Amino acid sequence: MKVDLSGQVWAQFEQAQTRAKHHLDEGRSEEAAAEYRRCANLLRQYSQYAIDASVRKQRLERAEKFDQLAARIQSGLMGQAVSESSALDDYRETVRGLVTKTDVGWDEIGGLEETKREIQTAYALALARKPEGVRMRSPRNILLYGPPGTGKTLLAAATSHELDATFFNVRVSDMLSKYFGESSKLISALYREAGAQAPSVVFLDEFDALTAAREGDESGAERRVLSTLLSELDGLDNKRKDEKHYVLTIAATNIPWQIDKAVISRFGARLIYVPLPDEAARRAILEIEIERKGHASEVSVAALARALGGYSGREIEAVVGHAVASMVRRTNPDLLQQASLGREALAAYTLKVGVLTVADFESAQMAIRPTTTPKDVARFELWRQQIEVE
Ligand code: ADP
Repeated sequence: MKVDLSGQVWAQFEQAQTRAKHHLDEGRSEEAAAEYRRCANLLRQYSQYAIDASVRKQRLERAEKFDQLAARIQSGLMGQAVSESSALDDYRETVRGLVTKTDVGWDEIGGLEETKREIQTAYALALARKPEGVRMRSPRNILLYGPPGTGKTLLAAATSHELDATFFNVRVSDMLSKYFGESSKLISALYREAGAQAPSVVFLDEFDALTAAREGDESGAERRVLSTLLSELDGLDNKRKDEKHYVLTIAATNIPWQIDKAVISRFGARLIYVPLPDEAARRAILEIEIERKGHASEVSVAALARALGGYSGREIEAVVGHAVASMVRRTNPDLLQQASLGREALAAYTLKVGVLTVADFESAQMAIRPTTTPKDVARFELWRQQIEVE
């Protein structure tokens, strides 16, 4: 009988990975590369125990990634031998890849009037000229918190568009997982580039991932990420203090209570709640999604807004999308047949559109249910009250 040693192989893999990270933190590139190569080999061994072919394939692919990482470390790209500044240059291209074009206007965001005003006040304070002899700390960091799909990304994009700024769209969890021990250099490179392309808006989505990472793995690399980011948020770089080099950081989270208090304090009073839309806001979002997109509906926007209590902006958008899809299927019964005739036939075919019906919206509302519960909302409210008194 073949003995199953998979548990042992996996344990060896985990140990090798821990050793590799440790070497990397301490700047021992050669040793780190060797351990990562060991990780690759152990994963290949481990893949042989997989019963399922797709699982085996996944493990082999992951092994390949470890080999690539080892090669990258060895080629000096990540090694300590590379000087700090040229290492930052290596990340310049990566960081430039985070620049996103945005042309979202404030009028494309339904409701959230108070939130919009708070954000506008923050950057107006920072950018307006101060009277001679008057010194004021300019707001440079904003934290948006609230349930998912409520328009946090939209708000950041609209701010950037309004300021005619370069928009750096960063998902913190991606950055931490893709760049292993290198995230801290990536952050430095990011802010350096943001300063060079100022005015800039640095949008840090899933900001909470930062403290989660710190708790999960107390390695030097993760601590470095946090301290680099904190010093960027503090704006220790003198250049960033003048208006010509204005860099506004907008962080966003759906789970603010998981963020370390020391990090929260960097945002001062600019912790802005982005709630689920109230009835008036739902109406505004529905007008954007239905009327401005050229659809006609037999159900009034006001009635729909009443019916969609508890839905987020993203969910309202999905409801309308679902209803539109039902309408299109109904008004174009021959669409599938057209599709089978190929691209040219389709290009010559004009879609027929009809009026959105009660049934279209009813089936959409059945299919798309709100995910934020009243209990979740209460948690946000409580956190909000808590930070106000602290
Ligand atoms: P978050 O960043 O809060 O998770 P997003 O800003 O990414 O949410 O919103 C997701 C999508 O939902 C947007 O692209 C937009 O289509 C829609 N949406 C959400 N909130 C609003 C709003 N207030 N007005 C208009 N559309 C919204």
